[in-house]
This record gives sequence, C-alpha cells and structure tokens, in this order.
Amino acid sequence: MREKIFKYIDEHRQEMLTFWKKLVSIESGTLFKEDVDRARDFLVKAFTDIGGTVTSYPYEKAGDLLVVDFSMGSTAAPIIFSGHYDTVFRHGTIEERPFVIKDDGRAYGPGVLDMKAGITMLYFIVRALQAIDYRAHPIRVVLAGDEETGHQSSTAERDFSEAVKGACAAFNFETGYMDDGFVTGRKGGGRAYFTVKGVGAHAGNEPEKGRSAILEMAHKIIAIQANNDFEAGLTYNCGVVQGGTVPNAVPEEAKLVVDVRFKRLDQVERARRELEAVAATTYVEGTMTEMKFDVIMSSMETTDGVVALFRKLEETANEIGFGPIYQKYVGGGADSAYEVKMGVPTVCAVGVAGGKNHSVDEFAVVDTLFSRAKLVAATVLKI
Ligand SMILES: [Zn+2]
Repeated sequence: MREKIFKYIDEHRQEMLTFWKKLVSIESGTLFKEDVDRARDFLVKAFTDIGGTVTSYPYEKAGDLLVVDFSMGSTAAPIIFSGHYDTVFRHGTIEERPFVIKDDGRAYGPGVLDMKAGITMLYFIVRALQAIDYRAHPIRVVLAGDEETGHQSSTAERDFSEAVKGACAAFNFETGYMDDGFVTGRKGGGRAYFTVKGVGAHAGNEPEKGRSAILEMAHKIIAIQANNDFEAGLTYNCGVVQGGTVPNAVPEEAKLVVDVRFKRLDQVERARRELEAVAATTYVEGTMTEMKFDVIMSSMETTDGVVALFRKLEETANEIGFGPIYQKYVGGGADSAYEVKMGVPTVCAVGVAGGKNHSVDEFAVVDTLFSRAKLVAATVLKI
C-alpha cells in the first residue's frame, strides 16, 4: 500500500505543482469576500471532480466553510484533513508577486505556504488514497475561509467544531516548520478591552477637580502586567493604549487593549477573574472602568490522544527515512484547537515546510510538498 502511494505521488509531482500554482494565483485575501469566493468555487469543483460530496456553509461577511466527504466505502469514524483557504494578503498582490519557483528550490507568492501548499498536499493525498483503493476510514476535508480573521464575522468556529465531531484523528495542514517540528500544542488567545472614564478639568485653572483617566489606566496596566505567569503560560500584554486629547486638560478617557495568551482552557476563567479584579479596583477616586474580555482563539491542548497520533507520525517518519521529527509547542493559535477541544486527536502544521508567513518574503520548500504528502499518507495507513 505504502509503496503504491509513494509511486502515485512521485508520478504526480508536476500535477501537484500545477494545482498549487493555480490555487495561489486565485487570490483569497481574507478581507476580500469576492476573491475568497472565487477560490471556494475552484476548490468545490476540484473536490467534486474527484468524487467528494461538498457541503458549503455560506457566510455573508466572511469566507465560507467547506466540508468535503469521501466515504472511501467505509462506515468507520472519519479522518479529518483540515486547514483554511484564505490568506492575509490584499487584492492585487498576485500581480506584484506571482507564484514562482526559484533556483533555491523554494516557491514564492501570496499564501504559497500559508496554506495553499497544505491544501495541495491534502488534495493529492486523497487522490493517492483513492488510487490504492484505501477503505479503512472515510476522509473528511474541512477548510475554513476566514481563519486569518479568527472567524470573527461568521459561525465558522461552531460549524468547524460540529464538522470534526466524532472523527478518530485529524491532520491540520497548516504551515510546516523548517526544523521538522510538528505542532502538538498551541496557546490560545483573547483580548481584553478596558475603558476608563475620568473627570476632565483645566490643567492650569483647577487641576484638583480633575480625575485622570490616564493615571487610573497607568495603575491598571501595572496591575495587569504583574499578573503575568510565564511558567504557567498565562500571559498579558498591554499592547495598545490611548487617552487624553490635549496636554492642558486632565484626561477624561483612556482605553487599553490587552493581548491575553493561555495554554489550557481552564486558564481562561483565571484570566477573566484576574482582569475583572483589576477592572473592579479603583486607584484614582472618581474614575469608572468598563472591561470586556473575548476569547479569540482556543488553545490546542497536548492531550494523550494528540501525543499518540504524533507517535504514529514519528514511527512512520523513521520507517520511511523521512528523518527525525519532534513535537513543537507554539504561541500562535489555529483551528486545530477546536479539533482537540472536540476530543479529536490532532497533529498540526503537517503542511509544507517554509517560513516568513504573512510577509512578502513568505516561502515554501518545494521538495517537502512531496516528502510530507508521503509522510502523512503513510501515517493515515496506520490509523
Ligand atoms: Zn494558516
């Protein structure tokens, strides 16, 4: 089985590159719904052409979620291949930086790595599995169209979670790492918004009548930062602060945005408690504070199931001569968090290796398109 899969991938290298180039060339900047919809149409056709049953979750203000089922003639629990097809780049980027493979063996272009390479990989893994008449598990492809905005304008988080429920394993084809680390844990993240209302007064005539919103916020910032628990992985960054209007007025209002990161879901409640405590404490008499805390990205927890799936990947890597791989823990969020939250063992960042995501220098190492497709496909055979 394994050899046949490898042969299939080797024989389809050119086709894989063509597909990758096509997908990169159809822009899908997350804020440009029309572009994202064009990429969706391309994917719907591509998956339908190879026998997939596509369910589209349409959203008005965000890229749609695509769920594609391949029964593979099996009634067992499905294996999930997931990712996203939106990018961070604005409309028109492709004209300035078209898809290109350079002499350094790297591919360049908007979204070439994050994560149109991963979609190319998973598409051809499905085809390879079909070609060898694989029948152990159905394959379900789940692709978000608004991952880069954290699903803020859609119900994709809920729909994504629903779509992966009951699966026996998941591979998230996010950007792979150059050092062959595969992600088995990710921090989650949230935002806290503080608004302090003080009392304005002329700084020259009657400063004593003022209640400085900025001074109150300054105390709060120190209190928030003091709650940083680097060891436990619950961290706060007071990243944006605004306040006041002119130098000669006691500031009436100040605003603060705090980036919050956590390792485990139970830390969300701790964060909320700590933030509420700071909001409820008044340092400058006569000021008022409002606080809102939103979780943007769930954390991906390193469960036993996650580690067990990683072991299968590692075992396969050793057997096929892929080379050593290791478990990586990263600070940035991804949809793999929802898979693990739904109880599905997941390994993330199985996509093509590369770097400089979200920048003009984003690159993907072309050879790893094939080597990693083989690695993941061979691991699927072990499930
Ligand atoms: Zn991504």
